Amino acid sequence: MKKYPALTVNHKLLKENMEQVVSWCAEAGIDIAGVIKVTNGLASVADDYVQSGAKWIASSRLEHLIRVKEAGIDIPKLMIRIPMISELDKLVEVCEYSLQSELSTLKELNKRAQSADKIHKVILMADLGDLREGFIDVEDLISTAEYVEKELDFVHLAGIGTNLGCYGSVIPTKEKMNQLIEYAEAVEQAIGRKLEIISGGATTSLIPIFDKEMPGRINMLRIGSAVITGALEDIRTCYGREEMDALHDDSITLEAEVVEVKVKPTHPIGKLGVDAFGQTREYIDRGNRKRAILAVGRADYGDTGDILPQIEGVEVIGASGDHTILDIEDCKEDIRPGDIVRFKLKYSAILYLTGSENVKIYEI
Ligand SMILES: *Cc1c(COP(=O)(O)O)cnc(C)c1O
Repeated sequence: MKKYPALTVNHKLLKENMEQVVSWCAEAGIDIAGVIKVTNGLASVADDYVQSGAKWIASSRLEHLIRVKEAGIDIPKLMIRIPMISELDKLVEVCEYSLQSELSTLKELNKRAQSADKIHKVILMADLGDLREGFIDVEDLISTAEYVEKELDFVHLAGIGTNLGCYGSVIPTKEKMNQLIEYAEAVEQAIGRKLEIISGGATTSLIPIFDKEMPGRINMLRIGSAVITGALEDIRTCYGREEMDALHDDSITLEAEVVEVKVKPTHPIGKLGVDAFGQTREYIDRGNRKRAILAVGRADYGDTGDILPQIEGVEVIGASGDHTILDIEDCKEDIRPGDIVRFKLKYSAILYLTGSENVKIYEI
């Protein structure tokens, strides 16, 4: 018997999405690091990415990359969250590449790489205004790059990179990409050689590729969400980029089971306080309506806005940790206890669902 809530990971669709992204980027001379963090580091997803042409597998958590290594997937691994000093030994063991932004960490990394008798490759991050990780001061970036080049024998400076559209919502315009290249060229001047990698960002950096204005020297993007969520992703929903419609938006879907169906009032009855999460809420009185309860909740997927029911006339009206309430008054189907409702998923719902112990993952 299938166990619910069930998450279905469709490898054929994931591969087709990655092939599409790889082909868009190849035209611009860009290789892809396939980011697996949103699926809680499923090694099978990493395998899809490699088969579809990704040149690196990347994640923000070392545990994910350990899983990929243990699955025997033979491809360079890139750690994309600035590593903790406390995990540097493991980093050197598991990953060939990492993103870096602290000189003290780099010095320590050099020692750990030396003990492991390995050369670890780094991409120094430049903060171009999104205000998450990276050197915000270009002189600081250049002097750190010089230090790595001249003083750290077991750390190789492979390139520089940036991250946009995460904390500060900054769009990766052509200007931002050119600024990154200027920084790279200043570093090259200081160290007297060319850098191998200029890493121009994540999914949002597909925008300048769609506009055919990505500068030539950008040669790596680190892509996760475009492949996983397709057109449900921000650059379709926030920036209206129809190119994203070429991607499947149902590679990973959720199925949950109905446990109650009843006609109930739409306005709660009694003196109102706060809901299960301590929030005061407004309820609109729409009279009596037919509703269904699903055995899945915010403990599994986070926010009700991030799960999209795939039966016409069904609307999510609320949830607590383990219950999701649907309005099914306008639904033509006769929904009963034991029936299954399927959902498309936005990024954060996939992030939570793949990490939830109560959700069974089925791979097809
Ligand atoms: C998450 C992340 C990415 C991938 O972002 P997507 O929007 O999923 O493509 C790339 N780089 C860094 C540093 C990240 O943290």
